[in-house]
Amino acid sequence: MSADCLFCKIIAGAIPSNKVYSDEHVYAFHDINPAAPTHVLVIPKKHLSAVNDGGEENEALLGKLMLAANKIATELGLAEDGFRYVINTGTDGGQTVFHLHLHILGGRALSWPPG
Ligand code: AMP
Ligand code: ZN
Repeated sequence: MSADCLFCKIIAGAIPSNKVYSDEHVYAFHDINPAAPTHVLVIPKKHLSAVNDGGEENEALLGKLMLAANKIATELGLAEDGFRYVINTGTDGGQTVFHLHLHILGGRALSWPPG
């Protein structure tokens, strides 16, 4: 828990969110400003500022995050047509909230490359 962190406050229930999934280590909720018909954020309950915050001690947690995302994408019906995972990292990566989050984007054909 990081006192000033928006997503830690969401995990704690101090700020409301539209929950999609929760387990011991992972929480997921709908993005407030969706960029696709389905736009879910998957976050670790442990505060990591970005995907490259820390090292080997987070190996299992990073695996759990992605496995939870796979489960959520399937449950949301995205697996057949496909979807995209995005992890914006740092300023040039477009990261605006400094608590690691994996975006699940789906429900329409997505263009490539990103801007
Ligand atoms: P990023 O730019 O990768 O750091 O993504 C941050 C994401 O958090 C953006 O897509 C925002 O729309 C989303 N976001 C910000 N505040 C909230 C909130 N209170 N509830 C849900 N999503 C949020
Ligand atoms: Zn946090």
